[in-house]
Amino acid sequence: MTIQHVTVAGDGVLGSQIAFQTAFKGYNVTLYDINEKTVKHAQLLISQLQPSYEHDLQVTVDDFQTAMSRMTFSTDLADATKDADLIIEAIPEKISIKQSFYKELSQVVPKDAIFASNSSTLLPSDIAPATGRPTRFLNLHFANQIWLRNTAEVMGSPETNPAVFNTVVDFAKSIGMIAIPLQKEQPGYVLNSILVPWLNAALKLWANGIATPETIDKTWMVVLSSPIGPFGILDMIGLRTHYNIVVTEAERTGDADLKHAADKMKERIDANLLGPSTGEGFYHY
Ligand code: NAD
Repeated sequence: MTIQHVTVAGDGVLGSQIAFQTAFKGYNVTLYDINEKTVKHAQLLISQLQPSYEHDLQVTVDDFQTAMSRMTFSTDLADATKDADLIIEAIPEKISIKQSFYKELSQVVPKDAIFASNSSTLLPSDIAPATGRPTRFLNLHFANQIWLRNTAEVMGSPETNPAVFNTVVDFAKSIGMIAIPLQKEQPGYVLNSILVPWLNAALKLWANGIATPETIDKTWMVVLSSPIGPFGILDMIGLRTHYNIVVTEAERTGDADLKHAADKMKERIDANLLGPSTGEGFYHY
């Protein structure tokens, strides 16, 4: 199985990055979104990547333009996918939206094409029944700022064909990613399975008055030779994003300490201490 033509469906924050990085690495890419307005927005998001590629990867204006020339835009699903070997889906994180998208997709796409979802929270087996081709479907999960944080977590359902899985691992490597193959389904993949409990443990130490954010970070940074601690990372993520995770987790587990941490986080959100975006989080920016 060789991937030559890629279609990225849903060209918002992540989809536009995935599409550009794929074109930048030499593939022809079609970007599909729902209407002209969202296509225009995707074009804007892609043009806004140029300073980052220039600054972070020393990419020249010519190289950026060459990558742009490999991309075409479409609002017609059949037309956007007619040549696709791989369709990467990055549409909103709502199961009903994803299910109806895959139902429509499975009607129009060449039968050998592989479908990959960039979903952050849904398991492949949640989506697979809607795809009409569960053996050729898996999750391929990128991180925001794909050109810098270049991991691609590859996670199949029990039905995913191993050859399809390996093809997608190879594809991820070919677009400059460090492929992270998961051998089983796991909510949160590898990264968030480690990161979320770690951040929550730090938040509980702070919320219970055991130590200050600076002390907790210092402990971690000195002993683990790490350039950043949990509160530095919380600032980077943005407090609101992690707050939503903490609230859901506290409700799911009934963990009273975590609920207390969520309440303390809410006080900081109400005070607009969100991180670099507001000039102050746990640290000043
Ligand atoms: P976004 O809201 O920025 O973009 C979603 C895009 O999908 C929009 O352009 C929208 O017009 C389009 N869309 C909506 N319905 C569609 C349909 N039926 N067909 C085609 N396009 C449709 O969302 P995002 O933040 O890029 O997230 C997209 C996916 O990527 C989600 O599954 C999310 O979990 C995942 N993800 C996001 C991040 C992140 O940091 N934002 C990181 C990793 C994974």
